[in-house]
Amino acid sequence: MIPKIERASVQEIKAFQEDKLQALLAYVNTHSAYYNRVFKENNIALETIKTLDDLTQLPVTTKDDLQRYNDDFLCVPKTKIIDYVTTSGTLGDPVTFALTDKDLDRLAYNEAISFACAGITPDDVLQLTTTIDRRFMAGLAYFLGVRKLGAGIIRVGAGVPELQWDSILKFKPSYLIVVPSFLLKLIEYAKQHHIDINASGVKGAICIGESLRNQDFSLNTLGQKITSAWDLELFSTYASTEMNTAFTECEAQQGGHHHPELIIVEILDDAHQPVAPGEVGELTITTLGVEGMPLLRFKTGDMVKAYTKVCSCGRNTLRLGPVIGRKKQMVKYKGTTLYPPAMDNILNDFSDVESYVIEISHNNIGTDEICIKIASKNTSEEFQQNIKDHFRAKLRVSPKIEFHDFKTIQKLQFPKMSRKPVMVIDKRTEA
Ligand SMILES: [Zn+2]
Repeated sequence: MIPKIERASVQEIKAFQEDKLQALLAYVNTHSAYYNRVFKENNIALETIKTLDDLTQLPVTTKDDLQRYNDDFLCVPKTKIIDYVTTSGTLGDPVTFALTDKDLDRLAYNEAISFACAGITPDDVLQLTTTIDRRFMAGLAYFLGVRKLGAGIIRVGAGVPELQWDSILKFKPSYLIVVPSFLLKLIEYAKQHHIDINASGVKGAICIGESLRNQDFSLNTLGQKITSAWDLELFSTYASTEMNTAFTECEAQQGGHHHPELIIVEILDDAHQPVAPGEVGELTITTLGVEGMPLLRFKTGDMVKAYTKVCSCGRNTLRLGPVIGRKKQMVKYKGTTLYPPAMDNILNDFSDVESYVIEISHNNIGTDEICIKIASKNTSEEFQQNIKDHFRAKLRVSPKIEFHDFKTIQKLQFPKMSRKPVMVIDKRTEA
């Protein structure tokens, strides 16, 4: 089930998207108070925006814009809204996304082709181990996608390894939809309860929220840890509420495939210009076919690299490599730059590290400082030195290491109202 447009030539895909772009510009000009105003204020003549290269004539949309003018982005009357979703905003208050009936159909299509991309068929049964409620989009998207694909779904929800295993053994799902580090918890539970995980029938996992791969697409520490205990095919996915769209790996596992019927992709530098092919830049997206809250040149804040070489699966669409990090969380440290996910990869290597947060701050001479707060039963000087040595060897940085009790770290990870654990505390932005 590969959509025809994804097998089309690069030129055909571009022409197809340029057509869709015209429709989008006309739509937001008429229905979005925000974009209508932006076009007017910037004296933009929409008839001059014809190709994807013309996009650079349009201003970008930031997370702050979304938060400040949230209601102005809405293109439909309230009576047309079916589902309300929120994301945590950068300025504090959550940003609301409204989905119409048509948007839910689009979401279902998106997820169905993403599952198909990972090789899932109508004969498969998927177990959902993530939240479907709490104003999240992801869980709902998975449910709709599985239904559209004609596969089966077991909605267990987040946490509770006991119920997860009860469901796996009872219903024999072939895939799990899961945050990768939760797979480690399932492995641990199975060990304690003498469950033979490799006889469970689960053959793969659709993974969200955490990176599984290094930049060369080999499995990172977390990915290796999982597959060394459990013979699973791991598929990375990358998605966000703002995009309404997922990038999912195919069986080649060489980056998440772009679905050109759903989204326009730009990889931009700080001046909002495209980076050179193969360079790292900020993923910037324009949604196609969204009715409730379409976005134009939305800067996601995620730093990525795009791959355009034809994929062995037959799709001609570009692929996104693993997210290198959040643009805002870039750490400048003695001439090198790095992002927190690189540090996660090192910390995941130590089984004695139970939990941690990474704190980034400015020191009094104006450079960045990294402090890693760790909960561990082993708080020896030797262990601390061992962690530091790994950081120096692999990342050429030497962070401060502090040991704290598990509860303290949990408190830092789950501030009030937070739905996802906070792994990075960036004190630089508080100034
Ligand atoms: Zn592929």
